[in-house]
Amino acid sequence: MDPKEFCIRGKQMVDYIVDYRESLDKHRKVFPEVKPGYLRPLLPDAAPEEAESFEDVMSDMERVIMPGASCPAATELEIVMLDWLGKALQLPVEFLSGSGGGGGGVIQRTASDATLMSMLSARHKTLTKLGREQPNQVDGKHLSKLVAYMSDQAHSSVERAAIIEAVRVRKLPSDEKFSMRGVELEKAIKQDKENGLIPFYLCATLGTTSSCAFDNILELGPICQREGIWMHIDAAYAGSAFICPEFRPLLNGVEVRIGQVDKLLLEHHSWNFADSFDFNAHKWMGATFDCSPMWVKSRKDIVNSLKVEPPYLKHIHSESDIITDYRHWQISLGRKFSSLKLWFVLRLFGIKKMQELILSDVAMAREFEEFVRKDERFEVTNEVKLGLVCFALKGSNELNRHLLEAVNREGKIHITPTELRSKYTLRFVICWGNTRESVRFAWEYISSKATALLSSPSE
Ligand code: PLP
Repeated sequence: MDPKEFCIRGKQMVDYIVDYRESLDKHRKVFPEVKPGYLRPLLPDAAPEEAESFEDVMSDMERVIMPGASCPAATELEIVMLDWLGKALQLPVEFLSGSGGGGGGVIQRTASDATLMSMLSARHKTLTKLGREQPNQVDGKHLSKLVAYMSDQAHSSVERAAIIEAVRVRKLPSDEKFSMRGVELEKAIKQDKENGLIPFYLCATLGTTSSCAFDNILELGPICQREGIWMHIDAAYAGSAFICPEFRPLLNGVEVRIGQVDKLLLEHHSWNFADSFDFNAHKWMGATFDCSPMWVKSRKDIVNSLKVEPPYLKHIHSESDIITDYRHWQISLGRKFSSLKLWFVLRLFGIKKMQELILSDVAMAREFEEFVRKDERFEVTNEVKLGLVCFALKGSNELNRHLLEAVNREGKIHITPTELRSKYTLRFVICWGNTRESVRFAWEYISSKATALLSSPSE
C-alpha cells in the first residue's frame, strides 16, 4: 500500500469508527452472543500469500469481529494470528496453539515484557519443582540460589528482569563475533553448581542490539535441555526476517531443518530447544508500536506463574477452564486489541510482499556495507547479516565520536553509536520505508562529514 492509499484508508477507518458508535443504540447488542472458539472456523488457517484488498478485510470486520465485540473476539483473533505468524516464521509446531500440544502465543507489549514473563515462568517452574523435591527448605532459600544467564551482548532488559524477580544474573563473555557459545555456558554452570547455585534460565539473543550478532543456539540449547534450564529466545529485531526462507537458518536451534542435522544434533532427543520465543513486530514488520508476539512451548508454565483468581474476575461462561485468558500471560489485567494490527498487516501485505520488503531492506544494508568497504578511511565492525551495519573511521574513539556528532547535528539523518569491545562504533540501520536513494544520500552525507572532519580534525 503506498503512502497516499494509507491516508485514504485512515480516513475511511475514522468514518467506520464514527458509524460504529452511531449504530450502538440501533442494532448492536451490549454483550456478544458467540461461544468461545467461534472465530477460528471463520478464518483460513494461514496468512495469505498475496495481498488482499482493504474492502475484503473491512467486510470481514463485520462478519468475524463485530459479532464477538472486543471480547471474546480480541482473544480469539490473537490466538489465530499468533498461529498464522508462527507458521509464517516456521516456528516449531509445539509453539502453535492449533497444534493442540500445549503451546501457544500471546502479544506482549514489548520484548522486555516477554523477557520478564519468560523469566517469571522459569522461576516459578523451577521453584515449584524444588519445593516438591525438598519440601522442608526454609522460605526463600531456593530463590536466593537461582542464577540466570545472558551474554555480555544481551539487551539490558534481561538484567532488569532479574532485578525485578530478585534473581542473580551472570553475563557470559561472547566470542569474537559477539556470539554466546556453549563452552562459556558449560564453564559457568559448573562453577555455579560447585558454589551451590541453581541455574534456571538463559536468554539467548538472535540479532543483538549492538551488532546484530546471533548466539549459538545449537550449542546452548542441548546444554539447557540437559540442565533443565529454560531457554528464552529474544529476537526483538531479527525475528521479522525469519519470514524469509533465506534467513530461516539463522533460527537454527529453535528448529532444525533436515539438511542441517549434524552429529551434535543426532546426539540429542529433541530438535526444539527453546521454551519461549519473542520478537517485535513493531520493529520491522509494519505493525505500529506496541506489538511483541511471544510464543511458549507450555502455556501452563506461563499461566501458573501469575494465576490469581479474584471473585470479580470469574467467568460467566461455564467453559472458563478451557478458554484462553490472556490476563494470566502478562502483568497487567487490561489489554489492547493488538491482534487487529497483525490481521491488517498480514492481509494487506500478504506474506510474499513482506518477504520482498525484508529482502530489499537487507539488500540495501549490503549496499551500504559495500560503500563503507570501498572507502579506505572506514572499516565495517560487524558481520552484516540483516539490516544493521556497524562501521567506524579507522582511528580513535574520539574521532568517531566527532563524526557521529557531525552527522547528527543538522538532523538530516540520524545514526546511533555503540561500543564493540571498547571500540566506539556507528550503527546504520535500514528501517521500514527506506529507499536506495535515501541510503545513497546517507552514505554520501556521512562520507562528506568524514572528509570535513579529517581535513580539519578540530571541527
Ligand atoms: N531485545 C533486543 C535484542 C533489542 O534490540 C531490544 C530493543 O532494541 C529489546 C530487547 C527491548 O525492546 P522493547 O523496547 O520492545 O522492550
